[in-house]
Amino acid sequence: MGLPIPTGLLAPKILVVRDWFVNFFLIKAGNGVVCIDSGWRARGTLRGLKLLGFEPDQVKAVLLTHTDWDHAGGLDCLNSAGIYAGAGLEHPPAGRQKKFYRSMKAPGERRSYSLVKGGDTLDFGDVRVEVMNTAGHTEDSLSYLVFEEWLFTGDAAWIFGEVSTGPRLINRDNYAARNSLDSIMSGGKACWLVTSHTGIWKIKQRQTESNAE
Ligand SMILES: [Zn+2]
Repeated sequence: MGLPIPTGLLAPKILVVRDWFVNFFLIKAGNGVVCIDSGWRARGTLRGLKLLGFEPDQVKAVLLTHTDWDHAGGLDCLNSAGIYAGAGLEHPPAGRQKKFYRSMKAPGERRSYSLVKGGDTLDFGDVRVEVMNTAGHTEDSLSYLVFEEWLFTGDAAWIFGEVSTGPRLINRDNYAARNSLDSIMSGGKACWLVTSHTGIWKIKQRQTESNAE
């Protein structure tokens, strides 16, 4: 609790890479993987993939929880991956710049990307991902529910003894962040909340487990 998750296996078909202060995640899909976020630097991302037995070109897609550098920086070495980012990216708050990580939009849009939003469902082979809008930390912040159980929240949730919206100063909109955290914690299917910097939190028992008790 409170620290990133060590590199390794998190659940069947879900792996995790820790590069210093941040995690990114790999979901096995066919003979490749879908990543949730990408790490913060190519060197650490490549090393993490190698440790887990994957080549960079096996990463078919990267689903960004948001486009801050510590989540999107690893895109630099994942050239065959499709990039998915929050539609909120196109709607910065009044007076604020659009957030764009340079790998997503350098001069001439050298990487293309798809915009997704809360309520969308993405299918990668037999892996289904449900998208949840959790804006607040940034306007493009999304969470991703995988296998109807694991909710990857990026920086919408932090665990310091309890679940919170994290340090106020890091959020572009604390009011929205609070609302997003409320919707994360209030029901839905997720059993496990998986943060990017501070580990995992059990929201509730799996339905099948509680039935068996
Ligand atoms: Zn972060």
